[in-house]
Amino acid sequence: MPGEFELIQRFLSHFPRARVPVGPGDDCAVLAPSREATCVTTDATVEDVHFTRATFSAADIGHKALAVNLSDLAAMGATPRWFVCALALPRDYPPRELSALARGMATLARAHRIALVGGNFTSAREVSVTLTVTGSLARAPLLRSGARPGDALYVSGTLGDARLGFQQLQRGVTRGSAVRRQRRPEPRVALGRIASRFASAGMDVSDGLAQDLGHLCEASRVGVRMELERLPLSPAVRAALGPEGALAGGEDYELLLAVPPSRERAFERACARAGERVTRIGELTRERGWVVLNAAGRCVPPAPGFDHFRGRASR
Ligand SMILES: [Mg+2]
Repeated sequence: MPGEFELIQRFLSHFPRARVPVGPGDDCAVLAPSREATCVTTDATVEDVHFTRATFSAADIGHKALAVNLSDLAAMGATPRWFVCALALPRDYPPRELSALARGMATLARAHRIALVGGNFTSAREVSVTLTVTGSLARAPLLRSGARPGDALYVSGTLGDARLGFQQLQRGVTRGSAVRRQRRPEPRVALGRIASRFASAGMDVSDGLAQDLGHLCEASRVGVRMELERLPLSPAVRAALGPEGALAGGEDYELLLAVPPSRERAFERACARAGERVTRIGELTRERGWVVLNAAGRCVPPAPGFDHFRGRASR
């Protein structure tokens, strides 16, 4: 394996030079943030936990490691600014794979104008990519705790595709839109910024809608009334998982948003103008329970994710 210095040079060569007072190469990066408040989050993407090298290319790993972090910035309504990267690699990791990993990450970084300002390398048995990302807030952050009874509940994009993609990869299917959603989630950064003008609460859906909605309801002290038929599903997910399977699916990286009734129309118009797909799936209620209706308007038994939430809530 080349020395750490060569690895760093190889990795950095794929990223644009960061426009900060001090970038990579010194003991610390030095940033000069604007007066806007800064969001910070960190997330590790680890081999055999979040991906396998048999089913993810190096570029997929680089993309996904950054995407899951950007999704958390999107959830707060933040604009991505800077990030640092701690990379652990096996000693025999091929240099061209390192370049591919960097390219996957750099392509997404460029698309969202987030600058790599530092990081470090260590050797380890598994590949792991730990990123710390920052974003600036032009407005108050979107929190999980801001929703009120009567607010409309929206979700972006479609649900369940990444779960279906995971199942397909396990069965040896390596192509198609679901597999792509599993390998290359697209963080809803632009939508998050729009939502920060209208929504009372928001979060990203990383553990499955049922579970994450549980967190939002708990934080906001509200219940929910939701219609299964309104869940936005791709034809493939509708056929393979159905609405209940999509509710339990993880790694969607869509946004879940609560919008006060007086702002629903304006929010939907702003999303339409920006080409951001959102679907109204229900309302939040004063009663702290879950009402999930099927196509016939009857209450259906809770999906597995709902059971999980109940278990957590009762502890
Ligand atoms: Mg999150």
